[in-house]
Amino acid sequence: MSDGTYCDRCGRPLAAAGGGQGHEACRAARELEPPRYCTRCGRRMVVQVTPDGWSSRCTRHGLTVSPAPR
Ligand SMILES: [Zn+2]
Ligand SMILES: [Zn+2]
Repeated sequence: MSDGTYCDRCGRPLAAAGGGQGHEACRAARELEPPRYCTRCGRRMVVQVTPDGWSSRCTRHGLTVSPAPR
């Protein structure tokens, strides 16, 4: 589902040399937590929790908001 280059929870490259291990836990945690790192540049984002969910802002790539609840 994520089309970014970096993990949005730990900020490491998804396709790291050696297999990109360990992001399954990140993905599971992301069901409960807002993203902390930009998927496009790996920078730490400013996270705000809102009544509707969350918003995360990258200084380079702007705002990402939580997907609409299903
Ligand atoms: Zn990760
Ligand atoms: Zn970014």
